[in-house]
Amino acid sequence: MTQADHRPDPSCASRLPTQLIHHPYQPPQDFAGPQPAVHKASTVFFENVQAMRERRWLDKSSYTYGLHGTPTTYTLEERLCALEGGLQCLLVPSGLAAIATVSLALLRTGDEVLIPDNVYGPNKTLAEGELAHFGITHQYYDPTDVADLAARITPATRLVWLEAPGSVTMEFPDLIAQVRLCREKGVTTVLDNTWGAGLAFRPFDLLGDGSLGVDVSAHALTKYPSGGGDVLMGSIVTRNQPLHMRIKLAHMRLGLGVGANDAEAVLRSLPSIALRYHAQDRAARQLARWLSTQSAVAQVLHPALPGAPGHAHWQQLCGASRGGEGLEGVAAGLFSVVIDARFGQDAVDRFCDHLRLFRLGYSWGGPVSLVVPYELSEMRSRATPHLRAGTVVRFAIGLEDPADLQADLAQALHTAFG
Ligand SMILES: *Cc1c(COP(=O)(O)O)cnc(C)c1O
Repeated sequence: MTQADHRPDPSCASRLPTQLIHHPYQPPQDFAGPQPAVHKASTVFFENVQAMRERRWLDKSSYTYGLHGTPTTYTLEERLCALEGGLQCLLVPSGLAAIATVSLALLRTGDEVLIPDNVYGPNKTLAEGELAHFGITHQYYDPTDVADLAARITPATRLVWLEAPGSVTMEFPDLIAQVRLCREKGVTTVLDNTWGAGLAFRPFDLLGDGSLGVDVSAHALTKYPSGGGDVLMGSIVTRNQPLHMRIKLAHMRLGLGVGANDAEAVLRSLPSIALRYHAQDRAARQLARWLSTQSAVAQVLHPALPGAPGHAHWQQLCGASRGGEGLEGVAAGLFSVVIDARFGQDAVDRFCDHLRLFRLGYSWGGPVSLVVPYELSEMRSRATPHLRAGTVVRFAIGLEDPADLQADLAQALHTAFG
């Protein structure tokens, strides 16, 4: 006898509140439309007590509790595996939660984590805060020098963070050499793959022959997979079941989950991610090239532009072989400029304030172009001789017409810098 054998029985529900809950209509299992259904659940019903006792949370063969997955989140996880070339995926409430979950899952007291100096800033504050409190040490390495990374790896090194390119200053590292080095030393690698997004290069197959890849890819789905500037979410993708299980256990113990409507929003945006990514890439390169001709701009930091820090490494990983649509290689729609040091902070602020289409705001990957001025001296622990003197301003290119964006930049440059 199972509960299903005697369910539904509307005669047991004689009063309205009960009838509203135990109604006989069952939605058809085989309803077919372009988008998957939004399944919202904390509670998941079991057929009988035995099924409840045998609940299997280790894989996707059944459902146990909303926090451990629903058809909606499992569908999103599978599609993100396809996007990044992974086999297992965990969803978390933000990109930063993906970073924190990986570090908390894989590091123990006495371990050391190595972090690139140009990493997404909150990765550093996590290391300086919670990780330090737990007795986990960290070092910041030079992302432009593989020898510096090699020199910092010790028997205590348990995890190496990678980012290609780094946040804000956009240096593209020699990712292949970095991963190869960590492989040789037996150190786990985790790439913040928010920029590449699964489209610029294959994080688990850097050489295209299946022989070399990162161990973990953390991704802020907030950016390109969402594409709307309206969802916060992160993913942790792996190609190794034991490694996945270590992170999954921490993920479960920490009680991390995502809302069904947010998962649905990302599922709805994923089919257009490549179109959006390539359109924003095309517009960003056009604007970056134009800005490099402007007298107030001392340097343009875009890895696809010749002369930019790490351009050759970008070319090796994301270059011609991956190109398409008339562009040389693949890049995201993100770049920075260094405003010449002859202009002070006031003039740079005036420039940003006078932009009309570019809005002042963090994050990227959405329809609206964004601008942020940065105070680099507060962000880097080592010298940056590859950067010209001046103030760094980062642009995230949205989906507006690039001609309108260029006109907006031109009027603000003229107002601020003459
Ligand atoms: C935005 C971002 C994150 C964090 O994502 P949130 O969802 O905003 O927490 C992590 N890494 C990189 C490189 C990012 O750009």
